[in-house]
Amino acid sequence: MDRTQTLSFFDALLEIFTREEQPLNALDAQIGDGDHGTTILRGMLAAHTSAHASASLRPGPMLLEAATAFQKATGGAGGTLFAQLFKGLGTAAGGAKALDREIIARGLADACRLVQKLGRARRGDKTMFDALEPASLILTEGKPVADAAAAACSGVEATRDMSAALGRARFVADGGRGHYDPGAWSIALILEELSRQFTP
Ligand code: ADP
Ligand code: MG
Repeated sequence: MDRTQTLSFFDALLEIFTREEQPLNALDAQIGDGDHGTTILRGMLAAHTSAHASASLRPGPMLLEAATAFQKATGGAGGTLFAQLFKGLGTAAGGAKALDREIIARGLADACRLVQKLGRARRGDKTMFDALEPASLILTEGKPVADAAAAACSGVEATRDMSAALGRARFVADGGRGHYDPGAWSIALILEELSRQFTP
């Protein structure tokens, strides 16, 4: 994924999260405070602006700029967790001209590590980590980026039967069992788009 594709990635994310803002808010309203779609969209708007402002940079620094912008725009703990995805990818990319499969694998592994450090989530807690970690593990096994996106989608599916141990969902009846985790859903949307932009 070169500079042009990285810019297209942010273009597409802005479009996707503009479309998904209300559905994601509705999911969050079932198990949280109903703001997840709006928060992520605010982050994606800032990330998009920042990526275009750094259009002359290589993908790594561009992703790092976008991560910082995303984090600043979203503020709270939730936004910071999602920014780690761009941060992990940007750090792994370094000064490379394009992101290859190995860079994406290292980037997602780093994002998992950062998310765990910040949020202390474990698998089964019904969070975005339940979509992020399965995707990362698939890449670590040497499988293609498209398989990682599919694993994230299966991870979202699995969150429906989980009872939350973290986040606001732990305060609702039966930990929100029966509802998908909105954060996991967002991770799957981002990774699906990453896989669309990525040409091996
Ligand atoms: P907030 O919970 O502050 O309203 P959002 O609604 O934007 O933030 O995000 C909620 C999502 O954040 C949840 O669906 C879950 O996936 C994720 N999340 C919450 N707490 C954690 C945590 N400790 N570790 C990882 N992810 C978390
Ligand atoms: Mg919320």
